[in-house]
Amino acid sequence: MKEIVILSGKGGVGKSSITASLGYLLSKKYKVVMADTDVDAPNLDIVLGARLREYNDIKASGKAIIDYEKCTGCMRCVDACRFSSIIEAEKPIVISFSCEGCGACSIVCPEQAIEIKEITNGRINIFDVENMLIVSGELIIGESSSGHLVDVVKKTAKDKTEASNADLILVDGPPGIGCPVISSIKGCDYVIAVTEPTPSALSDMKRLIEVINYFKTSTGIVINKSDIHPESAQKIKDFASEKGFKILAEIPYDLSIPNAITQAVPVVKAYPESQSSTVIKCLSDKLIDLIQQ
Ligand code: SF4
Ligand code: SF4
Repeated sequence: MKEIVILSGKGGVGKSSITASLGYLLSKKYKVVMADTDVDAPNLDIVLGARLREYNDIKASGKAIIDYEKCTGCMRCVDACRFSSIIEAEKPIVISFSCEGCGACSIVCPEQAIEIKEITNGRINIFDVENMLIVSGELIIGESSSGHLVDVVKKTAKDKTEASNADLILVDGPPGIGCPVISSIKGCDYVIAVTEPTPSALSDMKRLIEVINYFKTSTGIVINKSDIHPESAQKIKDFASEKGFKILAEIPYDLSIPNAITQAVPVVKAYPESQSSTVIKCLSDKLIDLIQQ
C-alpha cells in the first residue's frame, strides 16, 4: 500500500481539483481510497460529486471542566493558562471555545478540581464516488485539535484500505504549514506540492518545503496555471532545481478546470481532450511509475 499526499503552501491554487482528477485516473489502474485531510474546509467530495454513505462523530479534543464543589477559588489555574481561557470571577470560568485542552490548569490545581474531558470536535464522513471511497474529516466550527482529527482521518483511511485490499491512499491535504499539514505528511510515501506562478504562492511553497524536509519525504512540484506569469514560473523552476525537486507537471491555465468544478466532475472526465487533462494524464503516468518503484 502506498500513500501519496497532495499539499499546497497556499490555498486556492487548484490542489483539490488536481487531486480529484488524479484519483479518477489512478482508480482505472489501482484500487484507490481517497482521504480529505483539509479538515477546516473539506471539499474533495464536492469536487468529485460524491454521495455521503455514513458518518461518525469524533472525540479528538479535550476541554477543562471545573468541579466547583472542590474549587476553593485560589485562581492558580488562571495564571497557568497560557491561552487566557480561564476568567477570574468569584470562581474561575473556563472559556470553552478557546480552551486547548493542554491540561496545565489541571496540573497546578491543588484541589484536583479540574478534569480534561474529551469532547466531540469533528466527524469522519465516508463518501462513495465512481469506484472509490473518500474518507473526509470535518472539524466542528470553532473547535481545535485539527491535527489530531487528521490523524483519525488517516487511520480510518488506512483501515478502509486494508479492509478493501486497496493499493493506494491519495490524500487531499490542507493548505498552510500547521498541525494538519504535519499530520498529513507523517508516514506518507510521497508528497506532491502544488503551486502557481505568483510571488505569494512561491513564498508559501518554500515554507511548506521546509516542513516536508523535516520528514525527508520524497517530493515533486506541480505548477498549476503555469503560463499566467512566465517570470514567476521560472523562479519556481529555479528554486526546484536548486533544491533538487522535480517539476512533475506544468498545467496551463485552462477554463475547462473551472467549468468542470461547476459540474462537480474531475476535468479529466468532463473535458478529457483539454490541455489541462492532457498534462494531468502525464502526471498520473508519472505517479504510476513512482508507485511501481
Ligand atoms: S486552581 Fe483549582 S482550586 Fe484553584 S481556582 Fe482553579 S479550579 Fe479552583
Ligand atoms: S486546559 Fe489548557 S487551555 Fe484549557 S483552560 Fe486549562 S490551561 Fe487553559
